[in-house]
Amino acid sequence: MPLRRTLNATVLRCPHCRLVQYCTANGLCRRCRRILQPTPRMPTYARNIGRGIRMLRQEHGLTQSQLAASLNTRRTYISTIERGVAIPSILTIERIAAIFDLDIAGVFLLLRRMQRISDRAQIKTL
Ligand SMILES: [Zn+2]
Repeated sequence: MPLRRTLNATVLRCPHCRLVQYCTANGLCRRCRRILQPTPRMPTYARNIGRGIRMLRQEHGLTQSQLAASLNTRRTYISTIERGVAIPSILTIERIAAIFDLDIAGVFLLLRRMQRISDRAQIKTL
């Protein structure tokens, strides 16, 4: 199951109390509750869009370059989406969905499923 492996995989050290931990949904340290990362974090749903797209792409055996070519865009754009740095437009999500034989509702159902798994993983680590 590739889902769990791709979620919450980032390990960070708190710059304040030095606790090493997985990244948290709210971006705050589990111990001292201060900000873990200096840069503002995308909301969880935004990062999950990227994770969902990466998961779909990998399940279909496509490289970032191949997906980019199908969308007539650049590989670096796919990379920024998958890392949650950029949020794709609804139109782009729809085009990506079509490549994987999904409609846009199917994509958001997938994201909802990932969110639940992400929430459960969060609860377990607290
Ligand atoms: Zn801390």
